[in-house]
Amino acid sequence: MYDIAKVRRDFPILGREVDGKPLVYLDNAATSQKPRQVLDALTQHYERHNANIHRGVHRLAEESTAAYEEARAKVARFIGAPETTGLVFTRGTTESINLVAHGWGRKNLREGDEVVLTETEHHSNLVPWQLAARDTGARLRFIPVRDDGTLDMEEAERLIGPRTRMVAAVHASNVLGTVNPVERLAELAHGAGALMLVDGAQSAPHLPVDVGSLGCDFFAASGHKMLGPMGIGYLWGRTDLLREMDPFLGGGEMIREVHLDHSTWAEVPYKFEAGTMNVAGAVGLGAAVEYLESLGMENVREHERQLGEYAYRRLSEELEGITIYGPEADRTGVVSFDLPGVHPHDLSQLLDEEGIASRSGHHCCQPLMRRLGVSSTARASFYLYNTGDEVDRLAEALAEARKFFGAFA
Ligand code: PLP
Repeated sequence: MYDIAKVRRDFPILGREVDGKPLVYLDNAATSQKPRQVLDALTQHYERHNANIHRGVHRLAEESTAAYEEARAKVARFIGAPETTGLVFTRGTTESINLVAHGWGRKNLREGDEVVLTETEHHSNLVPWQLAARDTGARLRFIPVRDDGTLDMEEAERLIGPRTRMVAAVHASNVLGTVNPVERLAELAHGAGALMLVDGAQSAPHLPVDVGSLGCDFFAASGHKMLGPMGIGYLWGRTDLLREMDPFLGGGEMIREVHLDHSTWAEVPYKFEAGTMNVAGAVGLGAAVEYLESLGMENVREHERQLGEYAYRRLSEELEGITIYGPEADRTGVVSFDLPGVHPHDLSQLLDEEGIASRSGHHCCQPLMRRLGVSSTARASFYLYNTGDEVDRLAEALAEARKFFGAFA
């Protein structure tokens, strides 16, 4: 049984108030809160083991190295990676995708090649490919999104073809709450002789992920959205591909031999981990995935599916004229909406006065905003510690906000 009261007790920040009102944290797509287990792992690391890794032979260096490598193994296990050598620590999803666009894209893309993305991408799975296309002469193509927030898969079948070298798509949308059929996209990509990259920033924290069954070649995610610290994330890639790729950053640790005029590279994953890494961050992320595993990702998914669907229902039934973007059912806990007559920024401001943390803006998806015909939306995004009561508080606060603005209309 999913014991929500017990889960909430693990998150100290959920006990705080905002202007005398209990905090309702609904900005989880931006970043998640951290359980005591992760905070303790960080403190413990700094209080007992802190040292730089892979270099020293003293006790602390050995302990820190072991903790860092254990964290790598935990994260690899969490996403079903077949081996730990394919798991590269990065700063997060953005850096992971840049690593591939740089290390694979610039080396392999040529004039006339195509990279297929979707219209729903976060800027971090769009801009790196724009830069790679600019430098190589490759062309970007886009799978359209239908009005119901799902991808037009018939168009995907037409777009992915002999010129395609890479298909890169978001797994779960940070605006629409849609879970995209990335398994099918991977099949189409491989059928065309292309590779598949999955932006897992909004899936790894919320659904069971197994890179083997997704069939992808690269999977990118951020620690801070899945209960871990900021500044740590990961890229999983097929080891054979990572070996062939160019390094992304050069410097200490990523080399085998350095001469004055050239260098050779360390084995993967170290070839991609230049300089001093975020060791404590990795340790914290390791504790975060252990926490997620202790809850069970199927349970997390089910809890959030219920909250997302309940929020969709309550908001659409009680707030006449509201537009909720994305599919009605089978959504994640991301609920973006537009309440006519109230600007999303004003809405977030009023919600904040009720202690409710939400987000409004373009959510780093400007092309998708244009496709939706808006410049911004309001967004409530739920996570494993949110409750139905919090959905009710959101619905009530929105009704109040509408009255408030109605008074001045
Ligand atoms: N991709 C998606 C779908 C996201 O929602 C985000 C963050 O909001 C990112 C990528 C970028 O993540 P980060 O800023 O942690 O690199």
